[in-house]
Amino acid sequence: MILHDLNLPDDEFNLQIDTLLITPAYALVISVKHMAGKLIIDTENEQFTQIVNEKEKGYPYPVAQVERHQKYIKKLLAAHGFPPLPVEYLIVFSNSYCTYVVSGPNSRKVKLRTCKADVLLNRIEFFEKLYPDPFLTAKELRKLCKLLVKLNTPPTKYLFKKFGLKRSDLLTGVHCPYCGYLPLIRKKQKWYCSRCDKYSADAHMNALMDYFLLYDLKITNKEFREFVHLKSQDVAKRLLHTEKLIYSGENRHRIYFPKTFPW
Ligand SMILES: [Zn+2]
Repeated sequence: MILHDLNLPDDEFNLQIDTLLITPAYALVISVKHMAGKLIIDTENEQFTQIVNEKEKGYPYPVAQVERHQKYIKKLLAAHGFPPLPVEYLIVFSNSYCTYVVSGPNSRKVKLRTCKADVLLNRIEFFEKLYPDPFLTAKELRKLCKLLVKLNTPPTKYLFKKFGLKRSDLLTGVHCPYCGYLPLIRKKQKWYCSRCDKYSADAHMNALMDYFLLYDLKITNKEFREFVHLKSQDVAKRLLHTEKLIYSGENRHRIYFPKTFPW
């Protein structure tokens, strides 16, 4: 089973796993780094350095990140009564033009768990050989995937926490799709930009997607009116009745949701 872009709750922040591959014999946390230049994973000093045009830049040590993910999955398995499935990690450099080195006296372990994207399959074969015996039945594997999908919390609201922002810190309104001006006003049943003098019929859709990403994955008529600066409840209702949204509830209690995830 392969799960992409998992956002799992971890205390006050959430943990983001690029790809999680689960087989009956082991789980593999795959962290993908798309970086250019020469990359150095220094296992002795636990440092990660990128060199581009002879300029050095430091980044968070990727091994610490994947080890945190590894621990998290192990804890989750134990907490939900799953067998102690081995959890491994792999750091993949996806930019085919980059070069990387893993240095340090005890770098063998990390070397085996680092690769460029084109040799990913070889590394997976290495893990297949390392863990030949199944721990999970097909049923347990499905149950584990279901649990992870259930725990997957889209990264809404976390941006506020991460950057210490309040709702009132953000500007509201509909951006002009042509010049970016904020906020557009309603005129002739369309969105009108007073800066570039252009009209748009569906500029509010981008605002809605911003709302879903930043605040919550649901919106009411009142919340929508406040966010896009609309006075009329009927106009808001008309705009919210689109094939891109689904709704539940009646009248004042109606809540609208995005039909597909906005990311
Ligand atoms: Zn404009």
